[in-house]
Amino acid sequence: RFISLEGGEGVGKSTQLDALRHALEGRGLQVVTTREPGGSPGAEAIRDLLLKGDEARWNPRAEALLFAAARSDHIQKTIVPALQQGQWVISDRFLDSSLAYQGEAGGLGIEAVRDLHRFGSLDFLPDRTLILTLEVGEAAARARVRDGSAGDRIGSRPPSYHAAVDAGFRTMAAKEPGRVRLVDAEGSPATVTARLLYALGDLLP
Ligand code: C5P
Repeated sequence: RFISLEGGEGVGKSTQLDALRHALEGRGLQVVTTREPGGSPGAEAIRDLLLKGDEARWNPRAEALLFAAARSDHIQKTIVPALQQGQWVISDRFLDSSLAYQGEAGGLGIEAVRDLHRFGSLDFLPDRTLILTLEVGEAAARARVRDGSAGDRIGSRPPSYHAAVDAGFRTMAAKEPGRVRLVDAEGSPATVTARLLYALGDLLP
């Protein structure tokens, strides 16, 4: 099975990725974790082009194409081979981040970015997409604890940007309720992990 884990800054995605992996391994599953942008040598090289250096280096369309190109390579080189070996794959971010960040918050539109995925990756989709949701103020507070008082990553963008990302994720959950589930990230880490497992219930052996 292929699972993607999504969410805005400060929702506890990294903590939950590890917890989910341990929980699935505890059920006897072989689990591979990976991440976007990146997850294969070619896609990691594209990640450096995207995330290193000047934020304004790419225009929004070029940026969306780079994300789509990285994803295509990631799927072909890492995700599909692992699935063929019977492993479970959990990706830290996947298509829905592009739909929310580049599509909704970046202004390209969700459908335009989805079209890039149809072309670049033949619309290869996760069996389930889990989106961690947290009220934006709470997420900012968590990100500040993580990054120090500067709260760099969340603080560098206005609240309206984070709200648009959140709206993009919610749109996807409404559009594709079979694949995409919103999971409340409020509460203790163990509580949130239990919610994630519940949202995977029908896929677990
Ligand atoms: O939280 P994480 O380590 O996954 O953050 C990666 C960064 O890349 C985030 O700050 C996010 O704003 C950005 N990103 C993006 N578009 C994507 C995926 C990630 O802008 N499709």
